[in-house]
Amino acid sequence: MAPASSSNREISRRSFLAAPALLWLRQTRAFAERRRLDLAGIPWIHIRNGGAPLRLLRIHGNEETAREAVELFIEETAGEAWIVESQTRHVLLGGLRLDPNRMFSREGAEKNLRMLNPDAGDGVLRALLDQLDRDRDALMKALAPPPGGLWVAAHNNGPGYSIDTEAPISQRVHRPQPETPRDFLLFTDEGDFDKAARGPYNAVLQNRPGGEDDGSLSRWCAARGVRYVNVEVAHGKLDKQLELLRWLAAALP
Ligand SMILES: [Zn+2]
Repeated sequence: MAPASSSNREISRRSFLAAPALLWLRQTRAFAERRRLDLAGIPWIHIRNGGAPLRLLRIHGNEETAREAVELFIEETAGEAWIVESQTRHVLLGGLRLDPNRMFSREGAEKNLRMLNPDAGDGVLRALLDQLDRDRDALMKALAPPPGGLWVAAHNNGPGYSIDTEAPISQRVHRPQPETPRDFLLFTDEGDFDKAARGPYNAVLQNRPGGEDDGSLSRWCAARGVRYVNVEVAHGKLDKQLELLRWLAAALP
């Protein structure tokens, strides 16, 4: 694991190359500040734009539209963005493959590591899970919004996943756009869902997770009453993902 001290800070390239039309932004806001660092054995890009409590996350490396959406949106909105620096959905942790959205509990991480690395020995797995347990508090302290702040994770999906996948395990469902079931919001906070339920976008509420602990971040947040939203859109739909992010920031300040 590279020490956090190896992180480097730089003015984001996008800010540096900002078009004249964006000059007014510079007068009202500091440049978004970008750095690379290692947390819980995973390489991250951290972008800070002012001190607002909004936190954006792109966790799956193969979800390129979500990365673009997060990088564009954090330039226009105060808050912080965290991006897993990877080209693939899975990251390598101690030489083993792991879905980073399964690392938020020991139980979920163990199931995922065993599934993705069937030949790994018990000793190796146990050491890796112990390490994750030791790193998790610092990871969550860095990534999570301050109390009451909103956490927004951008995801992209393929044809096998949609609001219909989540509806049966959700407490409430709002489906005003049935023609685009792969584009939807997944909330852990009922007050936030109430606002979305009066809005134009597909949404589900999962504030009482049942079944097995899968180690996902939405489950971690639901169990702790943290305000969290998954912004799911089909791969490639950048305009729709930005539209949803902008709507969230306006509707859920
Ligand atoms: Zn994803």
